[in-house]
Amino acid sequence: MPISPTRRSLLAASMAAVAGLALPGLAGAAHSPLRLVPLDDDLALVEGAGAPVVVAVSGRDLLLVDGGLAARSGDLLRLLAQHYPGAQVRFLVNTHWHWDRSGANEALAGQGARLIAHENTRLWLGTEVRSTLDARVYPPRSARALPTQTFFDGVQGLDFGGQRLEYALLPQAHTDGDLSVYFPRQNLLVAGDVASGSGYPVLDTSTNGWIGGMVAALTTLMARCDAQTRVIGATGTVLRKADLLAQQDLCFAVLTRIGQSYYKGETWAQFQASAPTREFDAARGDPAQFLRAAYEGAWNHVNEIRRVTR
Ligand SMILES: [Zn+2]
Repeated sequence: MPISPTRRSLLAASMAAVAGLALPGLAGAAHSPLRLVPLDDDLALVEGAGAPVVVAVSGRDLLLVDGGLAARSGDLLRLLAQHYPGAQVRFLVNTHWHWDRSGANEALAGQGARLIAHENTRLWLGTEVRSTLDARVYPPRSARALPTQTFFDGVQGLDFGGQRLEYALLPQAHTDGDLSVYFPRQNLLVAGDVASGSGYPVLDTSTNGWIGGMVAALTTLMARCDAQTRVIGATGTVLRKADLLAQQDLCFAVLTRIGQSYYKGETWAQFQASAPTREFDAARGDPAQFLRAAYEGAWNHVNEIRRVTR
């Protein structure tokens, strides 16, 4: 469907509105020391790399879920060498393509790590991305940064540390290549930027994130959780199933209101004036970026909104 002038101008306004903002973790990655926080005997979280880095240990083998920014990859390797002398990163799983997650791909692949991701993550890393999220053009990454083990659908298994880890696609939520990683023995679920924690979720519509996909992804994540499951989300804070449910309640409410507004033929201004996040703002902050992305991304799914919110 050709984009209408109204939508075109709205997109342009959106680009301008978010100019200066950055993908979470891409800006403000000051060179403060990285910090390694134990999550379990054989599991840890690295903070300060631009995005949470989860480290699993098995003897002298390491598995990382996300690697942080490229600018921090040297510090990350030094930190790992200090905490795990003689160990080598065998696997790096990217939860999605964003550079705060995939920035260490070159460095770790260069040291022999196998890069695992969803196929769409490989495709986005291999092409130019014009991001409406932070009004920035991301050029293709080098061949070395591209994941070498990808999948399209279904739950995948990976043997590491005497157990079978599970990783699975969360279709079209934060991006169209999000995956989660589950560590059964530690009952820990890594959810990337799909689980936002305390703030408003981020929807990268330029690589096909959308709010209805996020509702579905949260259902998938919650099905993997019991009350004790620890969930590592966007900021690295340990979340619980109840946090995922609260985020889903928010997304479902806003999606329902977007649908009602579309079907009444309202404009963006009328929708915005209805304060569609009114009961959530006190706890979650400024909804502007989330609302705009949710509204624009839903244009591509107008018929699906009726199904998702039924
Ligand atoms: Zn992201």
